[in-house]
Amino acid sequence: MKRITVFCGSSFGRDEIFSSKATLLGKSLANKNIELVYGGANIGLMGAVADGILNNRGKAIGVLPYFLQSKEIAHEKLSELILVETMHERKTKMNELCDGVIALPGGFGTLEELFEMVTWAQLGLHSKPIGILNINGFYDSLIEMIQTMVDKGFLKEVNQQMLLVSDDIEELLNKMEKYVAPEVGKWITKESV
Ligand code: AMP
Repeated sequence: MKRITVFCGSSFGRDEIFSSKATLLGKSLANKNIELVYGGANIGLMGAVADGILNNRGKAIGVLPYFLQSKEIAHEKLSELILVETMHERKTKMNELCDGVIALPGGFGTLEELFEMVTWAQLGLHSKPIGILNINGFYDSLIEMIQTMVDKGFLKEVNQQMLLVSDDIEELLNKMEKYVAPEVGKWITKESV
């Protein structure tokens, strides 16, 4: 992987471990020569992951809509800032630029971005690895909900497995490196699974 898009909160969260792990993720990417694509802001975990990569000679590309510039102030040390018109354009651009995505803890925005990438994967629109860095069990209840979707027959196991989960940065990156997208997409018959 050459470039990873990171989706994460525009807030820091209540536990210091969220930002320290976000910074550590940035540092790990820099050490592996993987470039960061992210929302471009200097706030919350977004700023923390960018600091982590930029302070370790890595490269960070920010994708920020014009109208958000006053709220999500662009990180001043970005290697490249791409300004776009809309939120949709932002996600399209972030997808175009990367060959894998990681979600850190966040709020609605983070989940929206994560699930858009997963739904595109299950439709076969891309075959990139999608990782969840489950810092301190932040995503445990979401993972449980996803299991409920499988148990109740709303989600296929093969699509559930598209989400790679770990609480460890190295392990998550290894899983992503090894990931091979399933050949079957969402629109397959039960018999063929
Ligand atoms: P949050 O997780 O709510 O703190 O948001 C994290 C990031 O997601 C912020 O940069 C938001 O601007 C961004 N965001 C929120 N909604 C969307 C959306 N519909 N499309 C793309 N990015 C979004």
